[in-house]
This record gives sequence, C-alpha cells and structure tokens, in this order.
Amino acid sequence: ATPMAILVGTGRGAERGILITGPETLDRTAGIDTILLDKTGTLTTGRMRLGEVTPTAGTDASIALGVAAALERRSEHPIARAVVDGAAERGVSVPEAQEFRAHAGLGVTATVDGARAAVGRPAFLEGLGMTLPAALAERVAASDATAVGVGWDGQVRALLEVGDSIRPGAREAVDRLRAQGLEPILLTGDARRPAERVAAELGIDRVHAEVSPEGKLAAVTELQAAGRKTAMVGDGVNDAAALAAADLGIAMGGGTDAAASASDLALTRDEPGAIPDAISLARATLGTIR
Ligand code: ADP
Ligand code: MG
Repeated sequence: ATPMAILVGTGRGAERGILITGPETLDRTAGIDTILLDKTGTLTTGRMRLGEVTPTAGTDASIALGVAAALERRSEHPIARAVVDGAAERGVSVPEAQEFRAHAGLGVTATVDGARAAVGRPAFLEGLGMTLPAALAERVAASDATAVGVGWDGQVRALLEVGDSIRPGAREAVDRLRAQGLEPILLTGDARRPAERVAAELGIDRVHAEVSPEGKLAAVTELQAAGRKTAMVGDGVNDAAALAAADLGIAMGGGTDAAASASDLALTRDEPGAIPDAISLARATLGTIR
C-alpha cells in the first residue's frame, strides 16, 4: 500500500476503534481465507462465574476452594477472577501462597502451608504427578462448563466448574466473517465439550480444543503449510505466538499487552463486531489504491 493510503486507512481505523501497527499490515489482509478465533475472552466475555465445587471423599470443599483462591489471587486469567470472587462470596478463608508461578494455557502453581499446590486443567495436574480420582474424571468428561482441578500432596482434591457467556454480537460477527469469504475455526485451550457448545451456538463447524499455546501456533503454521492465508484473533498471553505467526494477527480490545504487541491490528473496541469491521476496513483501504 502507498503511504497516503495507509495514512487514510489508519485514520479511519482509529475512528472505528482499530489500531494498525505497521505499514505492511494492509497488504497482509489481501487474500486472507481463514480466521482462527480464540474462545475465552474473544468470543465469550471472559467474565466467568464459579459454579459447582465437587470435592473428593475426605476433602472439605471450603478448604479446597480457599487453597484455589490463594493461588488464583496472583493470576490474571479470567478463571482466576471467578475463583477468587466465588471464594469471597462463599465466605471461605484464604491462606497465604508462596512461590507462585503461572503456566500459560495450563494453570497456576504455588506453595501453600509447605505443600506444592496447583489449580488448572485436570491433565496439567496429572502431569505434575497428582492422581485424578475416577469420580472427578467422570465429572470432567460430562461437564459442559470448564472444569478445573485444585490439588496438593499428589492428589486432585476438588473440581471447580466455571462458566462464561457468549458475547453479544458474536454470532453476527461470525456470520459476517463467513460472508466475507473467511472460514472460521475455533481455537481454545479449554476442554472439548465446552468448546463444542460455544462453536454450535455460533455456527462454527471446525474446533481445535485442548490446545496449548504451542498448539495454537502449530494450528496456524499447519494451515499456512496447506496453502491457507490465515488471520488469528486472540486476547491472551497464550495466544501471542499464534498471533505473531499468523498472516494477520488481531488483538481483541481489553486483552493483554502480550497479545497486542504480537499483533498487526489491535482492536480498541472490545466487541466481536470489531473483527469483521477491521477486515472490511483493511480491504476497502487496499481497494482504493489498487
Ligand atoms: P482459551 O484458549 O480459551 O483462551 P486458555 O488457553 O487461557 O483458554 O486456558 C486453557 C485452559 O487452561 C483453561 O480452560 C483452564 O483449564 C486452564 N487454565 C489456564 N490458566 C488457568 C488459571 N489461572 N486457573 C485455572 N485454570 C487455568
Ligand atoms: Mg483467550
């Protein structure tokens, strides 16, 4: 694109809540045929609420929730907010946690009362050497909500179910993207059942669930290797590698700085409708100079 067209496009973008990071960006939007959409915080509000807490036999639900909140107090993940608020609403006491660590797309770990504790994907906890009791494993498999475990001393102690809702305008945004000739694909670190529930409500046929941040990156590079020109939309630290690798990376408004700095376009409007708006603005700007 010429410098003048970019200047005009950048100005129009700013009015509509779209920040363009570089002059190459507009050229990159030409020929995009596939759009990967992160679920949590992009298509859903990311404002989750704590539902059922299911302890294992011999575990007190309030203690398990208190330990989970102790770890999540330090995390920026939407699930963390739900756990901390849920613990406060239920009046449970929250111990101190030391040596906190966040593991993008997996969960968090810390030391509580001398024990190494973790909150996150059940498979992540198992990977840390904790056993997942059969009753909890069955509940994970059957849940339409996002089920995270809390565990310490070699065992998953309780399951916490959190749910969020689809953003207003998400269905319409997906329909518009399809009308623009893009194939939408849902990409999420969340479990298969909650991912498929959201995809079904939005009319998205292709779903990659339970993918790590590296898995999101691999999804982009595999599509590119198959000849697809790929846009990716995300909000989290876990999306940054995929956003950087995509032909066009789009950061959701209200997302993390890591997502914004890895992207070509940053949306300042925190709503799904800004995604097709960005695509049409970029195409219109390119069209004026071709
Ligand atoms: P998405 O790809 O939908 O934005 P993430 O990659 O951020 O989701 O998270 C994937 C999964 O990792 C979550 O569904 C959850 O099971 C787990 N997880 C990540 N961070 C946390 C956390 N702070 N607390 C609990 N679970 C977490
Ligand atoms: Mg996200």
